[in-house]
Amino acid sequence: MSITVENVSKVYGEQKALDNISFTIGSGEIVGFLGPNGAGKSTMMKIITTYIAQTEGAVSVNGHNVETKPMLVKQSVGYLPEHNPLYLDMYVKEYIQFSGQVHKVAKSRVNEVIEQVGLSPEAHKKIGQLSKGYRQRVGLAVALLHDPEVFILDEPTTGLDPNQLVEIRSLIKEIGTTKTVLFSTHIMQEVEAVCDRVIIINKGSIVTDKKLNELKSSEAQIVEVEFDLRIEEQLIQKLPKLTKAINIHDNTWQLTFSTSKDMRPAIFDFAHDNGLKLLQSQQKNQDLESLFRSLTK
Ligand code: ADP
Ligand code: MG
Repeated sequence: MSITVENVSKVYGEQKALDNISFTIGSGEIVGFLGPNGAGKSTMMKIITTYIAQTEGAVSVNGHNVETKPMLVKQSVGYLPEHNPLYLDMYVKEYIQFSGQVHKVAKSRVNEVIEQVGLSPEAHKKIGQLSKGYRQRVGLAVALLHDPEVFILDEPTTGLDPNQLVEIRSLIKEIGTTKTVLFSTHIMQEVEAVCDRVIIINKGSIVTDKKLNELKSSEAQIVEVEFDLRIEEQLIQKLPKLTKAINIHDNTWQLTFSTSKDMRPAIFDFAHDNGLKLLQSQQKNQDLESLFRSLTK
Protein backbone atom coordinates (compact mmCIF):
# COMPACT_ATOMS: atom_id res chain seq x y z
CA MET A 1 0.00 0.00 0.00
CA SER A 2 1.26 3.47 -0.87
CA ILE A 3 -0.76 5.35 1.71
CA THR A 4 -2.31 3.85 4.83
CA VAL A 5 -4.45 5.97 7.13
CA GLU A 6 -5.82 4.24 10.22
CA ASN A 7 -8.32 5.78 12.61
CA VAL A 8 -6.90 9.25 12.30
CA SER A 9 -8.39 12.14 14.23
CA LYS A 10 -7.17 15.71 14.42
CA VAL A 11 -8.29 18.24 16.96
CA TYR A 12 -7.46 21.94 16.66
CA GLY A 13 -8.12 23.43 20.07
CA GLU A 14 -11.82 22.81 20.54
CA GLN A 15 -12.54 21.74 16.99
CA LYS A 16 -12.36 18.22 15.63
CA ALA A 17 -11.20 18.65 12.03
CA LEU A 18 -10.83 14.89 11.37
CA ASP A 19 -12.88 12.24 13.11
CA ASN A 20 -11.60 8.67 12.90
CA ILE A 21 -10.56 8.59 9.25
CA SER A 22 -9.33 5.36 7.64
CA PHE A 23 -8.43 4.53 4.04
CA THR A 24 -5.69 2.89 2.04
CA ILE A 25 -4.43 3.83 -1.40
CA GLY A 26 -2.65 1.26 -3.50
CA SER A 27 0.42 1.84 -5.59
CA GLY A 28 -0.42 3.52 -8.92
CA GLU A 29 -3.93 4.64 -7.99
CA ILE A 30 -5.23 8.14 -8.78
CA VAL A 31 -7.70 9.06 -6.08
CA GLY A 32 -9.82 12.18 -5.86
CA PHE A 33 -10.23 13.54 -2.35
CA LEU A 34 -13.48 15.43 -2.57
CA GLY A 35 -15.26 17.58 -0.04
CA PRO A 36 -16.68 21.04 0.57
CA ASN A 37 -14.58 23.81 2.09
CA GLY A 38 -13.66 23.07 5.67
CA ALA A 39 -14.24 19.30 5.32
CA GLY A 40 -10.71 18.46 6.46
CA LYS A 41 -8.96 17.75 3.15
CA SER A 42 -5.93 19.97 3.71
CA THR A 43 -5.62 18.79 7.30
CA MET A 44 -5.46 15.15 6.15
CA MET A 45 -2.92 16.01 3.47
CA LYS A 46 -0.70 17.93 5.87
CA ILE A 47 -0.67 14.89 8.16
CA ILE A 48 0.21 12.51 5.31
CA THR A 49 3.08 14.79 4.27
CA THR A 50 4.33 15.15 7.89
CA TYR A 51 3.69 18.91 8.08
CA ILE A 52 1.40 18.55 11.06
CA ALA A 53 0.83 15.68 13.48
CA GLN A 54 -2.42 13.79 13.96
CA THR A 55 -4.03 13.77 17.40
CA GLU A 56 -4.85 10.06 17.17
CA GLY A 57 -4.31 7.18 14.76
CA ALA A 58 -1.51 6.10 12.44
CA VAL A 59 -0.41 7.08 8.94
CA SER A 60 2.24 5.54 6.74
CA VAL A 61 3.47 6.30 3.25
CA ASN A 62 5.35 3.64 1.29
CA GLY A 63 5.53 1.67 4.51
CA HIS A 64 7.13 4.52 6.48
CA ASN A 65 5.34 5.82 9.54
CA VAL A 66 4.89 9.61 9.46
CA GLU A 67 5.81 9.99 13.13
CA THR A 68 8.81 7.70 13.35
CA LYS A 69 10.20 8.05 9.82
CA PRO A 70 9.26 11.56 8.64
CA MET A 71 12.39 11.99 6.50
CA LEU A 72 11.67 8.78 4.59
CA VAL A 73 8.06 9.90 4.13
CA LYS A 74 9.20 13.27 2.77
CA GLN A 75 11.49 11.48 0.32
CA SER A 76 8.58 9.34 -0.88
CA VAL A 77 6.16 12.22 -1.35
CA GLY A 78 5.78 15.08 -3.82
CA TYR A 79 3.53 17.66 -2.20
CA LEU A 80 1.75 20.59 -3.77
CA PRO A 81 0.34 22.58 -0.84
CA GLU A 82 -2.99 24.38 -1.14
CA HIS A 83 -1.63 27.91 -1.18
CA ASN A 84 1.54 26.95 -2.93
CA PRO A 85 4.10 29.31 -1.43
CA LEU A 86 6.44 30.60 -4.11
CA TYR A 87 9.14 33.25 -4.11
CA LEU A 88 7.62 35.72 -6.55
CA ASP A 89 10.90 37.59 -7.07
CA MET A 90 12.82 34.50 -8.11
CA TYR A 91 13.14 33.33 -11.69
CA VAL A 92 11.35 30.10 -12.53
CA LYS A 93 14.47 28.12 -13.29
CA GLU A 94 16.37 29.67 -10.39
CA TYR A 95 13.61 28.68 -7.97
CA ILE A 96 13.39 25.12 -9.25
CA GLN A 97 17.20 24.85 -9.10
CA PHE A 98 17.13 26.16 -5.54
CA SER A 99 14.46 23.61 -4.58
CA GLY A 100 16.57 20.91 -6.26
CA GLN A 101 19.52 21.78 -4.05
CA VAL A 102 17.35 21.35 -0.99
CA HIS A 103 16.42 17.87 -2.22
CA LYS A 104 20.00 17.25 -3.45
CA VAL A 105 18.85 16.15 -6.90
CA ALA A 106 21.09 16.08 -9.98
CA LYS A 107 21.25 19.40 -11.90
CA SER A 108 19.98 17.71 -15.07
CA ARG A 109 16.71 16.97 -13.26
CA VAL A 110 15.80 20.67 -13.25
CA ASN A 111 15.56 20.86 -17.04
CA GLU A 112 13.75 17.53 -17.14
CA VAL A 113 10.94 18.66 -14.85
CA ILE A 114 10.70 22.07 -16.54
CA GLU A 115 10.18 20.20 -19.79
CA GLN A 116 7.75 17.70 -18.26
CA VAL A 117 5.37 20.32 -16.86
CA GLY A 118 5.54 22.49 -19.98
CA LEU A 119 7.35 25.41 -18.36
CA SER A 120 10.16 25.74 -20.91
CA PRO A 121 8.79 28.89 -22.60
CA GLU A 122 8.37 30.59 -19.18
CA ALA A 123 11.54 29.33 -17.52
CA HIS A 124 13.36 32.66 -17.87
CA LYS A 125 10.52 34.70 -16.30
CA LYS A 126 10.05 35.77 -12.72
CA ILE A 127 7.49 33.68 -10.85
CA GLY A 128 5.57 36.88 -10.06
CA GLN A 129 5.02 37.42 -13.79
CA LEU A 130 3.38 34.04 -14.32
CA SER A 131 -0.33 33.29 -14.55
CA LYS A 132 -1.90 31.11 -11.85
CA GLY A 133 -1.78 28.08 -14.18
CA TYR A 134 1.94 28.48 -14.74
CA ARG A 135 2.55 29.03 -11.04
CA GLN A 136 0.84 25.69 -10.41
CA ARG A 137 3.21 24.15 -12.92
CA VAL A 138 6.13 25.54 -10.93
CA GLY A 139 4.69 23.84 -7.83
CA LEU A 140 4.23 20.58 -9.73
CA ALA A 141 7.78 20.79 -11.11
CA VAL A 142 9.12 21.10 -7.56
CA ALA A 143 6.94 18.20 -6.40
CA LEU A 144 8.34 16.07 -9.24
CA LEU A 145 12.02 16.97 -8.70
CA HIS A 146 13.05 14.12 -6.41
CA ASP A 147 11.00 11.61 -8.43
CA PRO A 148 8.79 10.49 -5.53
CA GLU A 149 6.43 7.52 -5.68
CA VAL A 150 3.47 9.33 -4.16
CA PHE A 151 1.92 12.70 -5.03
CA ILE A 152 -0.26 14.71 -2.67
CA LEU A 153 -1.80 17.62 -4.55
CA ASP A 154 -3.99 19.99 -2.56
CA GLU A 155 -6.57 21.65 -4.83
CA PRO A 156 -4.17 21.85 -7.77
CA THR A 157 -6.78 23.35 -10.11
CA THR A 158 -8.55 25.85 -7.87
CA GLY A 159 -8.52 29.31 -9.41
CA LEU A 160 -7.49 28.24 -12.89
CA ASP A 161 -9.21 29.33 -16.07
CA PRO A 162 -10.87 26.61 -18.20
CA ASN A 163 -7.87 26.10 -20.50
CA GLN A 164 -5.40 25.93 -17.66
CA LEU A 165 -7.74 23.55 -15.88
CA VAL A 166 -7.66 21.09 -18.76
CA GLU A 167 -3.88 21.34 -19.02
CA ILE A 168 -3.22 20.80 -15.32
CA ARG A 169 -5.70 17.92 -15.21
CA SER A 170 -3.92 16.18 -18.05
CA LEU A 171 -0.61 16.73 -16.29
CA ILE A 172 -2.03 15.07 -13.17
CA LYS A 173 -3.30 12.19 -15.27
CA GLU A 174 0.10 11.81 -16.85
CA ILE A 175 1.80 11.72 -13.44
CA GLY A 176 -0.80 9.14 -12.41
CA THR A 177 0.15 6.72 -15.16
CA THR A 178 3.27 5.73 -13.21
CA LYS A 179 2.75 7.14 -9.68
CA THR A 180 0.27 7.15 -6.85
CA VAL A 181 -1.74 10.37 -6.72
CA LEU A 182 -4.10 11.74 -4.07
CA PHE A 183 -5.50 15.10 -5.07
CA SER A 184 -8.13 17.20 -3.40
CA THR A 185 -10.86 19.24 -4.99
CA HIS A 186 -14.32 20.49 -4.19
CA ILE A 187 -15.54 19.84 -7.74
CA MET A 188 -17.07 16.49 -8.59
CA GLN A 189 -16.51 16.94 -12.34
CA GLU A 190 -12.83 17.13 -11.67
CA VAL A 191 -12.84 13.72 -10.07
CA GLU A 192 -14.79 12.33 -13.02
CA ALA A 193 -12.26 13.82 -15.43
CA VAL A 194 -9.16 12.57 -13.68
CA CYS A 195 -9.65 9.58 -11.35
CA ASP A 196 -11.19 6.20 -11.07
CA ARG A 197 -11.76 6.35 -7.33
CA VAL A 198 -13.16 9.00 -5.06
CA ILE A 199 -13.02 9.48 -1.31
CA ILE A 200 -15.66 11.98 -0.20
CA ILE A 201 -15.09 13.71 3.12
CA ASN A 202 -17.56 15.89 4.96
CA LYS A 203 -17.14 17.55 8.35
CA GLY A 204 -14.09 15.43 9.14
CA SER A 205 -15.65 12.06 8.29
CA ILE A 206 -15.51 9.90 5.19
CA VAL A 207 -18.97 9.59 3.67
CA THR A 208 -18.00 7.60 0.57
CA ASP A 209 -14.99 5.69 -0.67
CA LYS A 210 -15.74 4.06 -4.00
CA LYS A 211 -14.60 3.43 -7.53
CA LEU A 212 -16.28 5.97 -9.76
CA ASN A 213 -18.18 3.38 -11.77
CA GLU A 214 -19.54 1.80 -8.56
CA LEU A 215 -20.61 5.21 -7.40
CA LYS A 216 -22.41 5.89 -10.66
CA SER A 217 -24.32 2.63 -10.65
CA SER A 218 -24.91 1.71 -7.03
CA GLU A 219 -25.36 4.71 -4.84
CA ALA A 220 -28.80 5.90 -5.67
CA GLN A 221 -31.53 5.35 -8.16
CA ILE A 222 -33.91 8.01 -9.33
CA VAL A 223 -37.23 7.14 -10.89
CA GLU A 224 -39.60 9.67 -12.32
CA VAL A 225 -43.19 8.45 -12.12
CA GLU A 226 -46.57 9.77 -13.11
CA PHE A 227 -49.77 8.51 -11.49
CA ASP A 228 -53.29 9.12 -12.77
CA LEU A 229 -54.30 10.82 -9.52
CA ARG A 230 -52.86 13.28 -7.09
CA ILE A 231 -51.45 11.55 -4.03
CA GLU A 232 -50.24 12.61 -0.63
CA GLU A 233 -46.60 12.59 0.32
CA GLN A 234 -47.48 10.42 3.31
CA LEU A 235 -48.66 7.67 1.03
CA ILE A 236 -45.62 7.78 -1.20
CA GLN A 237 -43.42 7.40 1.87
CA LYS A 238 -44.65 3.81 2.10
CA LEU A 239 -42.43 2.83 -0.85
CA PRO A 240 -39.53 0.66 0.32
CA LYS A 241 -35.97 2.08 0.27
CA LEU A 242 -37.29 5.53 -0.58
CA THR A 243 -34.91 8.29 0.53
CA LYS A 244 -36.45 11.30 -1.19
CA ALA A 245 -39.70 12.16 -2.93
CA ILE A 246 -40.14 15.38 -4.86
CA ASN A 247 -43.51 16.31 -6.30
CA ILE A 248 -42.26 17.82 -9.57
CA HIS A 249 -45.69 18.83 -10.84
CA ASP A 250 -49.28 17.65 -10.57
CA ASN A 251 -49.15 13.85 -10.37
CA THR A 252 -45.49 13.50 -11.32
CA TRP A 253 -42.91 12.56 -8.70
CA GLN A 254 -39.19 12.19 -8.66
CA LEU A 255 -38.34 9.34 -6.32
CA THR A 256 -34.85 8.54 -5.01
CA PHE A 257 -34.10 5.06 -3.69
CA SER A 258 -31.07 3.86 -1.79
CA THR A 259 -30.59 0.73 -3.86
CA SER A 260 -29.31 -0.35 -7.24
CA LYS A 261 -32.19 -2.81 -7.64
CA ASP A 262 -34.72 -1.71 -10.25
CA MET A 263 -37.58 -0.27 -8.17
CA ARG A 264 -40.10 0.05 -10.98
CA PRO A 265 -41.87 -3.27 -10.23
CA ALA A 266 -42.23 -2.19 -6.58
CA ILE A 267 -43.67 1.16 -7.71
CA PHE A 268 -46.09 -0.68 -9.98
CA ASP A 269 -47.26 -2.86 -7.05
CA PHE A 270 -47.54 0.23 -4.86
CA ALA A 271 -49.79 1.92 -7.43
CA HIS A 272 -51.94 -1.18 -7.80
CA ASP A 273 -52.30 -1.68 -4.02
CA ASN A 274 -53.40 1.92 -3.58
CA GLY A 275 -55.90 2.03 -6.43
CA LEU A 276 -53.67 4.20 -8.63
CA LYS A 277 -52.63 3.81 -12.23
CA LEU A 278 -49.04 4.27 -13.19
CA LEU A 279 -49.04 6.40 -16.35
CA GLN A 280 -45.31 6.32 -16.76
CA SER A 281 -42.11 5.50 -14.94
CA GLN A 282 -38.64 6.33 -16.07
CA GLN A 283 -35.40 5.32 -14.43
CA LYS A 284 -32.70 7.99 -14.25
CA ASN A 285 -29.21 7.79 -12.92
CA GLN A 286 -28.39 10.30 -10.29
CA ASP A 287 -25.67 12.53 -11.66
CA LEU A 288 -22.56 12.62 -9.57
CA GLU A 289 -22.74 16.31 -8.83
CA SER A 290 -26.14 15.99 -7.15
CA LEU A 291 -24.99 12.83 -5.40
CA PHE A 292 -22.06 14.78 -3.99
CA ARG A 293 -24.40 17.53 -2.84
CA SER A 294 -26.74 15.09 -1.15
CA LEU A 295 -23.82 13.38 0.63
CA THR A 296 -22.29 16.60 1.91
CA LYS A 297 -25.15 18.91 2.71
P1 ADP B 1 -10.50 21.78 3.68
O1 ADP B 1 -9.09 21.69 3.18
O2 ADP B 1 -11.31 20.57 3.36
O3 ADP B 1 -11.17 23.04 3.23
P2 ADP B 1 -9.24 22.11 6.28
O4 ADP B 1 -8.51 20.83 6.53
O5 ADP B 1 -8.41 23.25 5.82
O6 ADP B 1 -10.46 21.83 5.28
O7 ADP B 1 -10.01 22.54 7.60
C1 ADP B 1 -10.84 21.66 8.33
C2 ADP B 1 -11.38 22.40 9.53
O8 ADP B 1 -10.33 22.65 10.46
C3 ADP B 1 -11.97 23.76 9.19
O9 ADP B 1 -13.10 23.97 9.98
C4 ADP B 1 -10.87 24.72 9.54
O10 ADP B 1 -11.39 25.98 9.93
C5 ADP B 1 -10.19 24.03 10.70
N1 ADP B 1 -8.75 24.36 10.75
C6 ADP B 1 -7.84 24.12 9.78
N2 ADP B 1 -6.61 24.51 10.17
C7 ADP B 1 -6.73 24.99 11.42
C8 ADP B 1 -5.82 25.54 12.38
N3 ADP B 1 -4.53 25.64 12.12
N4 ADP B 1 -6.34 25.93 13.58
C9 ADP B 1 -7.65 25.80 13.85
N5 ADP B 1 -8.56 25.29 13.00
C10 ADP B 1 -8.12 24.90 11.80
MG1 MG C 1 -8.10 22.86 1.90
